Amino acid sequence: MERGKLLVISGFSGVGKGTTVKMMVEQFEKYKLSVSATTRNPREGEVHGEHYFFVTKEQFEQMIVDKELLEYAEFVGNYYGTPKSYVEENLEKGNHVILEIECQGAEIVKKLVPEAVLVFILPPSAEELKRRLIGRNSEAPEVIQKRLLRAVEETEFLKNYDYFVINDLVENCMVNIDKIIENDQPLLATEEQIEEIVTDIKKFEKGE
Ligand code: 5GP
Repeated sequence: MERGKLLVISGFSGVGKGTTVKMMVEQFEKYKLSVSATTRNPREGEVHGEHYFFVTKEQFEQMIVDKELLEYAEFVGNYYGTPKSYVEENLEKGNHVILEIECQGAEIVKKLVPEAVLVFILPPSAEELKRRLIGRNSEAPEVIQKRLLRAVEETEFLKNYDYFVINDLVENCMVNIDKIIENDQPLLATEEQIEEIVTDIKKFEKGE
C-alpha cells in the first residue's frame, strides 16, 4: 500500500479553511481530516471529537509531556495541536491526511515531514476577509481585531508554503486543492494577486 500524502492547509482567520476541508472530506474518501486538540472554548455548534478535542490547559500540557502531539502552537491566547497517532495510522493506510493548522505549526510539520504539501488559502481581497470574519458572528469584536492583527503577522510565514489558492468559491477552492494533490493543473494565485492581498492585509495593523 502506497503511503498517503500529508496535506497542510493554512489561511488567515475567516478565509473559509474549515468549510473547504469539510467539503473535501465529504466529497473524496481519500482525504481524512485530523482533529486537533485545543484549549479554546467551543463555538456554538462545535462538537467535541468532531471539530476539536476541547481540553483544559493542564490536559494539553500533559499531551505535550507525553509526546502525543506531532506539533502544537499558541494562537491568539490558546493552544492548538495535532494528535500524532491519527496522522500516522492514516498515512500508513494510504489515506491523504489534512492538517488545517496555523503557520507556526505548518513550519514545524515542514521540518519534520519535508514531503508534506503546504497550501495557503487566500481571500479574494483583504476587505472580503474582514467581512467574512465579522459576518460569521462567532467572536467578540476584540477577538476579531486580534485575529486580523494575527493575519498581519502570518504574512511573514508565506514563504514556507508550496501553493497559494484563492477562496472565491469554496467549491473551486476545494477542487483546486485536490488538483494540487493529483498533479492536475490547479488554478493557483498569481504573484501579483498574492502581493496585492498581502499589501492590503498589512494595512490592518494601522487600523485601516
Ligand atoms: P480557530 O480558533 O479559528 O478554530 O483556529 C485558530 C487557528 O488555529 C486556525 O488558523 C487553525 O487553522 C489553527 N489550528 C487548528 N488546529 C491546529 C493545530 O492542531 N495546530 C496548529 N498549529 N494550529 C491549529
